[in-house]
Amino acid sequence: MNITFEERMRESINRPRIYFDHAATTAPRAEVIDVVAKILREDFGNPSSFYNEGHRAARLLEDARTTIASCLDVLPEEIFFTSCGTESDNWAIKGAAYARQGKGRHLITTTIEHHAVLHSMEALEREGFEITYLDVDHRGMLDSEKVRDAIRDDTILVSVMMANNEIGTILPIKEIGAICREAGVLFHSDGVQALGAIPVHPQELNTDMMSFSGHKLYAPKGIGLMYKRKGARINSLIDGGAQEKRQRGGTENVAYSAALAKALEMSLADMEHESRRQMVLRDRLIRGVIERIPHTKLNGHATERLPNNANFSFEFIEGESILLFLDKLGYACSSGSACTSASLDPSHVLLAIGLPAEIAHGSLRVTLGIDTTDEDIDSFLFDLPLVIERLRNMSPLYSDYRRGKLQPLIPEEGSLDLKIDGSYGWPS
Ligand SMILES: *Cc1c(COP(=O)(O)O)cnc(C)c1O
Repeated sequence: MNITFEERMRESINRPRIYFDHAATTAPRAEVIDVVAKILREDFGNPSSFYNEGHRAARLLEDARTTIASCLDVLPEEIFFTSCGTESDNWAIKGAAYARQGKGRHLITTTIEHHAVLHSMEALEREGFEITYLDVDHRGMLDSEKVRDAIRDDTILVSVMMANNEIGTILPIKEIGAICREAGVLFHSDGVQALGAIPVHPQELNTDMMSFSGHKLYAPKGIGLMYKRKGARINSLIDGGAQEKRQRGGTENVAYSAALAKALEMSLADMEHESRRQMVLRDRLIRGVIERIPHTKLNGHATERLPNNANFSFEFIEGESILLFLDKLGYACSSGSACTSASLDPSHVLLAIGLPAEIAHGSLRVTLGIDTTDEDIDSFLFDLPLVIERLRNMSPLYSDYRRGKLQPLIPEEGSLDLKIDGSYGWPS
């Protein structure tokens, strides 16, 4: 029985598609959609209005805030609604920088942050702030002592993500937060990928601010959260009305705020069981891929890793062709992050963990979710080797390797924890 790629492609028309890109966005839960529809139909009022419809809307908004605060173990007045995770990251970083520039103009972050953080930092750099970008190791792990060493008298903010969106590595933010607190420096963490997947308690984690996003959590796109510790003073970025305690103008998105509260409540109610379930699927996927496909490595940390994330590099493959072929077979995956897949530059995260550009280009991110089944993994483990084999057969690098003209960087047996040193052995 030797099924070819073409046969699988013809068959795939009759199979339901399999969504493996939950780190990019998630489908809203049915119960969450019901919450949105009900509020849009029945409670369209403006929460700032002084009559019944307004009071009802304000009540729904504050109920959502209270629910979220209790999920995170913080005070309702420490929860702010924003338009997305990106806005929350911008607000925390620029708001802190502008509020504290009298004390100093130095900020610290890492090389593997989301672009919402990195580009906020770069914007500040253009305004004369100085940024230290801390390196991570080949697993994407940051040594918290590096933060201590980087803090100076004029340091005003440290921003380190809780979990990386591309390679899934979970960073030691509790330790980093303790170091910042001791030094009297504000600490922000992008918790977008962590929330709902692993326990997130901003206070216990010693953070002053954390960013979150609805659509990574089975709520709609267009709603985000910021946790800001009472007493952490930062500037506003959105000037306008007196909404969100005068700190973020704009008529509140009542329906989506309630949706986010509902989605968070549901994710947390089920988190222990669901994360363990996804971890079992993830580990079967990782082992299966490394076993079935030669010259393959896992990117990210083998254990300190989000339950739903697998990220692989396949040697001798160029470009984003893996994604196109998988798409034809019915799978939605990512090569890095959704933001980088529009450009041909290799992902900054994969470069930061030391992958040569050529290896980074042959990378694939598979992120599981609440809808992922055992059968999805089986089917993928059947199809992915067909795709890789087909692409390698078209690859001049692979043919050079087969003729002994190229040394592989990833050994044939593959690796769960490979550090690649040196440059790629391109044929001259
Ligand atoms: C998706 C994501 C963001 C951006 O959130 P949006 O709501 O899409 O703006 C920020 N940080 C991380 C780690 C993310 O995964």
